[in-house]
Amino acid sequence: MKEASNSNELFKRAQHSIPGGVNSPVRAFRAVGGNPRFMVSAKGPYLYDEDGNQYLDLINSWGPMILGHAAEVVNEAVQKAIPNSLSFGAPTRKEVEIAELIVSMVPSIEKVRMVNSGTEATMSAIRVARGYTGRDKIIKFEGCYHGHGDSFLISAGSGAITLGVPDSPGVTKGTANDTLTAPYNNLEAVNILVEANKGQVAAIILEPVAGNMGLVTPQQGFLQGLRDLCDKEGIVLIFDEVMTGFRLAPGGAQEIYGVTPDMSTLGKIIGGGMPVGAYGGKRALMDYVSPAGPVYQAGTLSGNPIAMSAGMAMLNFLKDHPETYQQLERTTASMVAGMQQNMQQLGLSYTINRIGSMFSIFFTKEQVVDFETAKTSDTALFGRYFNSMLNRGIYLAPSQYEALFVSTAVTEELVEQYIQANLESLKEAQA
Ligand code: PMP
Repeated sequence: MKEASNSNELFKRAQHSIPGGVNSPVRAFRAVGGNPRFMVSAKGPYLYDEDGNQYLDLINSWGPMILGHAAEVVNEAVQKAIPNSLSFGAPTRKEVEIAELIVSMVPSIEKVRMVNSGTEATMSAIRVARGYTGRDKIIKFEGCYHGHGDSFLISAGSGAITLGVPDSPGVTKGTANDTLTAPYNNLEAVNILVEANKGQVAAIILEPVAGNMGLVTPQQGFLQGLRDLCDKEGIVLIFDEVMTGFRLAPGGAQEIYGVTPDMSTLGKIIGGGMPVGAYGGKRALMDYVSPAGPVYQAGTLSGNPIAMSAGMAMLNFLKDHPETYQQLERTTASMVAGMQQNMQQLGLSYTINRIGSMFSIFFTKEQVVDFETAKTSDTALFGRYFNSMLNRGIYLAPSQYEALFVSTAVTEELVEQYIQANLESLKEAQA
């Protein structure tokens, strides 16, 4: 590993013109110490930084690059679209085709609206739920992250926990009062909240597999319990599948767990690396969206032709290659098995949560089922582990409270390298 002098220099410069030197907080490496690496290019499993260092990438742009970086199928689609103009602000054939594709893949979606980020998708989805039900309150779960919309920056996960601002200043009391929170995997707590706010809850929104407090899977009966409660109380159930959509299966977590929400939000993979989000759901709900209905939502660049081309190439590939998910399952399972062996060898017993190609190691012996148990993790130890891995050319998410994403570009040989680096880094981090 070479000195990170060019990255360090850029980070210093960046402080003068960008808040904290980055355009999204977790990138600043605050929780793990040291300076972020500034990237120049990426191909397949690797990232390359300003100092010529190569890293095996386990973030993959926080999820989108499921086929690895610069996947030809996506790049070609983008290159083909570019000469026809970067934007029209008018409808295109591609938007019809991608909508039909999404409807065919995601069980809950009968109609879909494209937006430009996961944040826009979730903000819009709760607006629809509120407009449709005529109710104001929403229930979210502690440690879940749904982007940076005001309503969601209450007990928020991801960078909000990492930077210590789960309840952000700048969110009005009125907005905060309309967001009720419950512990993840705790159906009883949700029942109590609904009972105490009878007839006032518009939506329950959650990550059906939580990836923003580290990876936490739903316990048996949790998703179905929420489905039953929402049916009984006329509440709109929203699965935020920005991370899990097209990652865990072509139809996301809802396909795997067999529970169908009323609405779903999508992002990341749906844009193949371009800035895209989407929200969709039952026809009756989506027909509330302008201009079909009264709930307003719009976007100058929504349905952008380049972004749609990238997304469509990605989704078509995943739909036509279901074996992708078996490959990702095998690769990730062997990475985790290797880590478990390493821990056994070193007499350690930390918790690893995994589903499909998403996983997290928590530096705690407790089972991690919600935000409280996630917080038992030794974050200082995580920081040392992160830096040991980075020095060995493995690029992990720079926070305990994030999931890792594996791409199809990770070969068996790279799995072995990863397991070896994990062994050495676990050893080093204990010191
Ligand atoms: N929902 C979830 C589940 C997410 O993980 C994220 C981002 N990590 C978002 C919403 C927000 O998406 P974006 O960053 O594209 O606004």
